[in-house]
Amino acid sequence: MPRPRLSIHGLLWTVFTAIALCGLSVPSPSRASDEEVRDARRPPLVVVRAVGSVPGSDARMACRSLLAQLQVRCEVREARPLEVLASAIDQERGQVDARKGLELLFRDRAADALIEIDLTDQDIFEPGKPFVFGLASLSDRIAIISTSRLRSADPDVYASRLTKLVMHEGGHTFGLHHHDHDDCVMRRDPSVASLDDAPTTPCDRCRGKLTRRAKTLARPGQLALDRARGLLARRDPDSARQLLLGTVWAGEYSPPILHEFGIAFAKSGQRDDAIGIFQFLVEESPDHARGHVSLGMALQARGEDGDHAKAIAHFERALELRPEWTTVAAHLNQMRRNG
Ligand SMILES: [Zn+2]
Ligand SMILES: [Zn+2]
Repeated sequence: MPRPRLSIHGLLWTVFTAIALCGLSVPSPSRASDEEVRDARRPPLVVVRAVGSVPGSDARMACRSLLAQLQVRCEVREARPLEVLASAIDQERGQVDARKGLELLFRDRAADALIEIDLTDQDIFEPGKPFVFGLASLSDRIAIISTSRLRSADPDVYASRLTKLVMHEGGHTFGLHHHDHDDCVMRRDPSVASLDDAPTTPCDRCRGKLTRRAKTLARPGQLALDRARGLLARRDPDSARQLLLGTVWAGEYSPPILHEFGIAFAKSGQRDDAIGIFQFLVEESPDHARGHVSLGMALQARGEDGDHAKAIAHFERALELRPEWTTVAAHLNQMRRNG
């Protein structure tokens, strides 16, 4: 028997209507409440945690490094025992598999942390490499840094090495890729000698990106969006839907966040959910041109009865809003030619 299909669009409207009926303020993208504005200005929260016997001073130093250079909040949270990484230890190599380690840490991460940086004194590796100083997931915004090869008789040298790694892996958690430039902390440094030669700060280009990302990451709803993406990547769309509904219920969203929720569901193959989200978005924000285009694309891809005509209508609406959008105009002409 086929599973009854719950419409995410219907659920979103149910939540939205319930908020209105309860007399609560219905969030409006054009008239954000004072609280939303205040929230939007709160820098993203980075949590630093030790795994195993890393001194608390290292975790505090990591936070200080981030606070000195990035628009973030940073908190050192309680250390976790090394056992959380047990199943990531490669007994033959005597090292922690950093990729497996990141997955374990992701499952156990701080609920309120937009970004989490974990410090371990265990040596870590990535398949194909003898060791790595650290590893980060750009999408999950979590990083693991090993202090095992950083030790030095000179505490300043140790502090400098750790700062560079925190900035480098922290940059990844902001979504930055490598930038192999002498003057950039986002360059790759495969040896201690190379790390000692590296700068502690990002280049101007990467600094600009980090500043812009910090603003984006401070948006209400970003944490739920990131978590939903992680759940979708791990094939758990039910939990991702719950997060989306909770976000709408709390009014912690804006049109761009809703749009990105839709994109995330679409990318993970949850096309009906994506269509529901985009429909909700353009009904709430009829002038959201990107929403109309994304809805058109999703409808066209689904191709059920009536979807083709609806897709054309949404592309037309997007072009009314943004007549200069030539790729959409070309796509629409192609659709019309193909009937
Ligand atoms: Zn890197
Ligand atoms: Zn750079």
